[in-house]
Amino acid sequence: MGKVYLTGAGPGDVELLTLKAYRVIQEADVIIYDRLANPEILEFAKNGCEFVYVGKEDGRHTLPQEQINEVIYQNALKYKVVVRLKGGDPFVFGRGGEEGGYLYQRGISFEIIPGISSSISVPAYAGIPVTHRGVAVSFRVITGHESKKAKSQIVWENLKTDDTIIFLMGLHNLERITKNLIRIGKPLDYPCAVISRGTTPQQKVVVGTLEDIVEKSHGVATPALIVVGRVVTLRKQLQWFESSLSNEAAWVSPSSLDRFSQGLA
Ligand code: SAH
Repeated sequence: MGKVYLTGAGPGDVELLTLKAYRVIQEADVIIYDRLANPEILEFAKNGCEFVYVGKEDGRHTLPQEQINEVIYQNALKYKVVVRLKGGDPFVFGRGGEEGGYLYQRGISFEIIPGISSSISVPAYAGIPVTHRGVAVSFRVITGHESKKAKSQIVWENLKTDDTIIFLMGLHNLERITKNLIRIGKPLDYPCAVISRGTTPQQKVVVGTLEDIVEKSHGVATPALIVVGRVVTLRKQLQWFESSLSNEAAWVSPSSLDRFSQGLA
């Protein structure tokens, strides 16, 4: 029986992989990976390593979670070193807990290798610090992926303070999110940003207010996250990544960009 490494792949920029993740990827007999894990990382694997794609796209599930759990388990019966590679951090909206629980119940040993979550690193690449002295004393990371029919599980009234709010998986619900924040009393001109494909050469940042962000960010590509808070205004001084890109246009080959955006199906 093998060991499973539930491994964070980081937000996109390959260099944001941890050394530990890099080591197990090199040792892996099989890598079971997601759409959000940059496929360039797979190039670190040894010859003969098997690759299994179990990615999901918003609404379109390639494989239901129970089947993904089972694929991981079956591979652990077959191989010694099994890497389950997930975008960002495996425990931040990554369902890593469910995968670990499934393995626990079947007596398979595993390790968790945390990854750099998009929730803090994508704002950082957009020049937005999630906390800042005198501006925001805390930040929250909230799912923006709630069913339109069911009642929201988010306690909107708790979001009245000036602390930073980061919504993941929320682009399609952006209008509902901004309406709720306005309903609880946030001003119409309250700063927010939508960051698309953060930490990659395709990064796009739309800065606006609760009133105009929906219109301004129309057509923005996924994956994208939403930052709401006064910290967004600091971007004026702290923006660094996009200008570094235009200086180093040959940073990553175009073919690997395509693969990142499409997933390596
Ligand atoms: N475990 C992941 C999050 C999985 S949920 C992590 O820790 O980062 C998937 C959501 O993450 C996407 O819908 C999007 O909101 C966000 N996301 C992931 N990668 C991103 C990127 N490169 N740029 C912008 N948002 C990203």
